[in-house]
Amino acid sequence: MAGSVWPEVYRKLGVAPVINAQSWVTALGGSIMRPEVLRAMEEAANAFVDIKLLNRAAGEVVARTCEAEQGLITAGCSAAQVLMVAACMTGQSEANVEQLPDTTGMKNEVVLFKGQRNRYDKAFVTAGARLVEYGSIDSVTPEELDAAINENTACVAFVIAPFLPQGIGLEETVRVAHARGVPVIVDAAAEVPPRANLSKFHRIGADMVAFSGGKGIGGPQSTGLLAGKADLIEAAVMNSLNLDSSHAAIGRPMKVSKENIVGLVTAIQLFTDSDEAAEWQGWQSKAKYLADRLKGIQGVRIAIEDDPSQRQGPQPVLRFDDNYDGPTIAEIVTQLKAGDPAIYVGGGGSRAEINLVMVNVQDGEEIVIADRLEDILRGE
Ligand SMILES: *Cc1c(COP(=O)(O)O)cnc(C)c1O
Repeated sequence: MAGSVWPEVYRKLGVAPVINAQSWVTALGGSIMRPEVLRAMEEAANAFVDIKLLNRAAGEVVARTCEAEQGLITAGCSAAQVLMVAACMTGQSEANVEQLPDTTGMKNEVVLFKGQRNRYDKAFVTAGARLVEYGSIDSVTPEELDAAINENTACVAFVIAPFLPQGIGLEETVRVAHARGVPVIVDAAAEVPPRANLSKFHRIGADMVAFSGGKGIGGPQSTGLLAGKADLIEAAVMNSLNLDSSHAAIGRPMKVSKENIVGLVTAIQLFTDSDEAAEWQGWQSKAKYLADRLKGIQGVRIAIEDDPSQRQGPQPVLRFDDNYDGPTIAEIVTQLKAGDPAIYVGGGGSRAEINLVMVNVQDGEEIVIADRLEDILRGE
């Protein structure tokens, strides 16, 4: 679709749509909302409502969906990260909520495995906390986590992402933290689908878990889901809009509009009702089409990989042998981006591969991708 249609709203701004074979990435717009989601948002836009009541009701949907005690819709997973830490620091003290980001008198340390430092972790300190790392990038023990916890620890953070190591694992992290009376918060932004993950980390014992609403769930790009223990989510609510107080809370710049709340609720319902197997099959057949088209290029190996801990859906992965003498990975990526339409793929960086992520490739775009890669790799 992106390949053939240039929506007028983008044309007026001179910004051309791109083909997204890079996954649910923020930089390309997250996901494409279904028509039902857009219709729900349009309906929501036509009336005023009490936002507090609306987000309470939506929070119940989130809680049910995640099988958690309580839920809240946030302005993205990053906003949920800010609110989780704020909640652990303030508890339900109105005075503490008003005092942030000054954390004087509050526990203000967030403990995180060094190997899970990542470009989203600024959100853990936005509310005034400070990060305390434990372990080294490639070795870590439960004892090191235990030693990093002290009387100033507000929470232990755990990040689940395909590009990050799991360290001692969530289960062991929960065991050590809870033995010290410290809550565990989880950033699992892009871990759905599979939808089983919506409740999985709560069952393992995490106290609060955050997901993006605008990645695999297909809600508005600037939404997120936060769910967990009732007392902590209540504290997160106080730190969000704090509509009952005359003081704005730390979360005021991260408000969620009525349209976005309704859009995400609708997307969640569609997501939990969707036929996951059929969706997977659709990605698989696009992946197979590409793998077939790109077979037999000198020095290029292509395989479809779908290990869920490494890959978002089945995807053709291209690797290059010593006898390959075409353009480098960086050159291929650049040429794909320079074409019309621009094609964005995964890879380069630390992985010596190009991966073609199918989850956001619209019907027919796999043909455009194959044509262009054949041009570049076969020199046709
Ligand atoms: C995408 C992502 C985020 C940010 O989520 P938003 O919903 O865009 O705020 C945070 N952490 C990880 C691991 C992510 O992949």
